[in-house]
Amino acid sequence: MNGSTPPQLPLRSPKVMLIGAGMTGILMTIKLREAGITDITILEKKESLGGTWRENTYPGLACDVPSHMYTYSFEPNPEWSHLCAYGSEIREYFERVGRKYGVTEKILFNEAVTRSIYGKGQWTVTSSKGNTYVADFIINCTGILHHPAKPDIKGIETFGGDMFHTAEWNHTVDLTGKRVGVIGTGSTAAQVIPEVAKAAGKLSVFQRTPQWIFPWANKTVSEKSKKKLRDNPNRVRRLRGLYVWMMANLLTKATAGHQPQRAILSAVCQLNLKLSIKDKSLRKKLTPDYAVGCKRLIVNKTFYKAVQRNNVDLVTEGIAEITPKGIKTRDGKEHELDALVLSTGFHNFNFMRPMDMRGKGGLKIDDAWSKKVQAYRSMFLPNFPNSFLMLGPNSPIGNYSVIAMSEVQCAYILKIIGHWQQGEFDEIDVKPSAFKSFNEYLKAGMSKTVWVGGCQSWYLDDDGDPALWPYTWQQWEKEMKEPKMADFITEKFPPKTEKTTKKNEVSAAA
Ligand code: NAP
Repeated sequence: MNGSTPPQLPLRSPKVMLIGAGMTGILMTIKLREAGITDITILEKKESLGGTWRENTYPGLACDVPSHMYTYSFEPNPEWSHLCAYGSEIREYFERVGRKYGVTEKILFNEAVTRSIYGKGQWTVTSSKGNTYVADFIINCTGILHHPAKPDIKGIETFGGDMFHTAEWNHTVDLTGKRVGVIGTGSTAAQVIPEVAKAAGKLSVFQRTPQWIFPWANKTVSEKSKKKLRDNPNRVRRLRGLYVWMMANLLTKATAGHQPQRAILSAVCQLNLKLSIKDKSLRKKLTPDYAVGCKRLIVNKTFYKAVQRNNVDLVTEGIAEITPKGIKTRDGKEHELDALVLSTGFHNFNFMRPMDMRGKGGLKIDDAWSKKVQAYRSMFLPNFPNSFLMLGPNSPIGNYSVIAMSEVQCAYILKIIGHWQQGEFDEIDVKPSAFKSFNEYLKAGMSKTVWVGGCQSWYLDDDGDPALWPYTWQQWEKEMKEPKMADFITEKFPPKTEKTTKKNEVSAAA
């Protein structure tokens, strides 16, 4: 033995296709590059980056987790103007990060993926511009809540005034002095309603189900505080650590069924309702009949004030139909409206669709998910090898920071790609048995969660199974730390011959 180590083969360099340039697409690009992976194509369907923070522009739009927690861990921002920053500021943050890390200049804007087809270790991706790309991996960074759900209410198409969904806010419509209706009282509505109430002559809020509200005033950060944070980066880190600790140990533990945390949340929300709403009959209308946290907890300090304004009417009678003049409720009353805002949420099970994605054997994503939208560890689907989904089914969304979740997923994906770079495989697919047992594990966690607390929400699917992570944040971090390679089927293909290379090599037509 001469003691010399065998020569190291150079790492393979994958072609990676990123679909979407929102928060997860920007993150993934930065982290892939840090790992030395540079052959990255980023397709973005719209004209700018930012995802949900580009799409949503409704008045009152803000983050509802503390901003120092809603930042990339590697890019703290001492400049946040409020405890929970407003939408435009968050969008600017992502634009700044995109520029700083040279992501923006690499994005192919106004180019949507229309189809992606898998074949032997590679994906062939077609775009709305008719271009074709080949990639060893595709990473769907397409977000969750981006397909507005418009209510299927009788007569909706007959409404004679202005009508739009909160995610498609029509800024050409001036609501000043108008008779405005808002359907919905979820997290978005709680932010929209106080703003619309200030402008409207009369605002009718159509509430189907009351919500629990955790009181959290969106305080302005003083220049003095910002300077302290700017001068001492450790302060920002400590602040972030504090919020992470609070959210992980109070909110996610409460939803996962930990009793002391649930009791605290319940007490605070009940007290908030009692102290905020003096009128007993209004309080009754606003009192939910399900456990706190069953629906997404609203974090807000302005909604209760808004519904007590003289120009605001909280309508709890069910909607019978929408008429050319307004909304008719089941008691026969017609609420005349000049404008109607649909704050009715999103189709949260769409993920990367309507993209035509076809895995092994031509399996279509719509067929794979026809009965149930599930994944293995939120990121993988059997028969869709070499493809990952950021913030997929059962990501622990809730009231936690989606950025923190994405960073965990990103690290996991890089580890998988790292094995490919070492030449261990050309194709990686999750075993159906691992997919099944992971989803059984999720179901098993469900019974203890607060989501079975007697409500209906987007947190549950049609079978009553969780759309979110039913355990704690700590459990998520633990489970997602290392890929269990035994849960995957991997394959190596013989090197391509000249002929097959030519056949498969489809370069960008751009
Ligand atoms: P949502 O939570 O799904 O709420 C939709 C609202 O519309 C509910 O009040 C629902 O009533 C009502 N609704 C739906 N269809 C209706 C119909 N046909 N008739 C009457 N009412 C109807 O949607 P969202 O408020 O847009 O929030 C969605 C998610 O976006 C949140 O859970 C959160 O994850 C995210 N979000 C985040 C922030 C942030 O700052 N980070 C801000 C806003 C939103 P029911 O309750 O009876 O179904």
